[in-house]
Amino acid sequence: MHGFFGITAMFARRGLLLLAALLFCASAMSSAANAQIGLDISTGACIFPDHDNLGLADAMQRAARGDCPGRLSTGEMRDSWLVKSGLALAQKPAEPLSIHLKQTLFEEVTLFVRYADGTVWTTRHDAASAARHTELGGMFRLRIPWRPGTIETIALHAEKVVDPRGAFVRPAVENARAESIETERQSLTYGLFGGVILATLFFNLVLLVWLRYAFLFFYCGMTAATLFYGIAASGILMRLLPAGLPPMLGNVVAEAILPVMLWFAVVFTITLLERGAVHMRLGIAGIALATLQVGAGVIALITLFLAPEMLHFPLAAVNILGALTMALIFPLAIIAWRRGSRIILIYTVAWAVPLAGAFARILVALGFIETSAFIEDSYFYAMCLECVLSMIGIAYRISNIRAERDEARAREIELTYLAETDALTGLLNRRAFIEYGIRRSGKGKLKSRLLLIDIDHFKTVNDGFGHEFGDRVLREAGRLIESISPVNAVAGRLGGEEFALIVPYAERDDTAGTILRAFRSTPMTDGIRITVSIGSASGIIADDRTWRQVYRRADAALYEAKRTGRDRHVAATGPDDPSVATAA
Ligand code: GH3
Ligand code: MG
Ligand code: MG
Repeated sequence: MHGFFGITAMFARRGLLLLAALLFCASAMSSAANAQIGLDISTGACIFPDHDNLGLADAMQRAARGDCPGRLSTGEMRDSWLVKSGLALAQKPAEPLSIHLKQTLFEEVTLFVRYADGTVWTTRHDAASAARHTELGGMFRLRIPWRPGTIETIALHAEKVVDPRGAFVRPAVENARAESIETERQSLTYGLFGGVILATLFFNLVLLVWLRYAFLFFYCGMTAATLFYGIAASGILMRLLPAGLPPMLGNVVAEAILPVMLWFAVVFTITLLERGAVHMRLGIAGIALATLQVGAGVIALITLFLAPEMLHFPLAAVNILGALTMALIFPLAIIAWRRGSRIILIYTVAWAVPLAGAFARILVALGFIETSAFIEDSYFYAMCLECVLSMIGIAYRISNIRAERDEARAREIELTYLAETDALTGLLNRRAFIEYGIRRSGKGKLKSRLLLIDIDHFKTVNDGFGHEFGDRVLREAGRLIESISPVNAVAGRLGGEEFALIVPYAERDDTAGTILRAFRSTPMTDGIRITVSIGSASGIIADDRTWRQVYRRADAALYEAKRTGRDRHVAATGPDDPSVATAA
């Protein structure tokens, strides 16, 4: 629980209020968008499946008898009647009425308007007119032309109903004013949510291009699928497509995109969570189920065109597989939480609303509960919110990755330092010194001079004052050599009391003389005075082989300096080494 409170505190600090405000506005907007305006004609109406191809007169008779069992049993592809009598609606010439209805899964609808004088006017919503009738919000509208007289009865006859919710979801009679409020409200909410999701998608695509994290890819897939879901479920798709396609195409496309959305969401979750937080076998099972669900969605789309009467089979498969996939999300989240994932907590907040919506939809589809306006339309809004809230998880994960990377880089720098330096003096060790020497020579183009600097009679320092004291002298000697060597020189300790310098080659070079004089004039710890002998040689140090050649000649020169009395410099002679004066 500690982690939970930690995260909660983090939320509070970093804009929980802003988040709450956003949530509040969004839910207010979506409930405003869902509120019924106009006259609801489903309450008190007679709704029954049409087994016998009844005409309007027979249907009205049956309604008058009160034989109204309501919705179809799940999965039947039948015709269905809605009869609403006793309306006494008077139309004003300037404000003609229209019937506003949710496009669910059915092929065609005929509207019957019966006036007090017994005349009947009819119109149809079918493949030919679907594009013209479709409005935002996945609704369609059938307009009733003005004529004198009151409307007594409105009846709707839907054909080939596949939708378990039935054909008559939120049917309303609206006048021109209600219609314009409705249109404005729908454009506002779709504009807002569509805009948010578009901006989110764009921003994360840019992040994906630059950061190339797998979870960003799956996030963009999920967000794009949400956007397409909105386009299909809102009816926009039907208005973009040519006329003559099945009116329920938009809905079936939406049903087929939902699994794609879920698939990306599952893979996004698995890739976003901290390493080791995901129970791998559950994760793979989730991906497998989601993949099957995507397949079922594709089959549903194909079925719509080839055998629409079979459509409820793949759609049921989509729902059942979706329920199973989401059922897996819970143990996955609980295990991740128990393994100490912090992202899963942010994630749970982001997913609470759409998960609840999805479960409600599945329960509706399986016939356990009745649908409601909230369940119908909240899905898209909830998914939009989820996409926005998931960005908190993304930001958190990116900050984690950055922290991990900074730590790794610091450790790497430290390890490199430890591997390359001599612990006693802090100068480069032998291996690093040779490497730098080779690099300094510009891949064998530049000539260098190698100076081997060996302390004279160092053994007597150790013998007289102790080994620890000797170490202190070595440290001071190293510091002295480094402080007086030229800026472009590389200094190192080759071992024991032997130091070395590599300097760029110059014909007249007094580095060795400077070092000799510095040791003569600088007392070490406790006023002790030491001198050094220096042997030097020049050459191109391009690799290990040339290093050994130059080293061997410098070492021979050092031996010569020791042999001829110490506290002096001897330069090797040879083709590479024009004679350099031996400093006195
Ligand atoms: P020379 O003038 O011929 O160089 O005489 P030297 O005594 O300096 O040379 P030699 O090679 O005979 O002895 C080197 C001594 O350096 C031997 C060893 O005890 C001492 N030495 C080597 N490494 C260390 C070290 O890390 N710490 C200390 N305190 N002494 C060291
Ligand atoms: Mg020595
Ligand atoms: Mg020595």
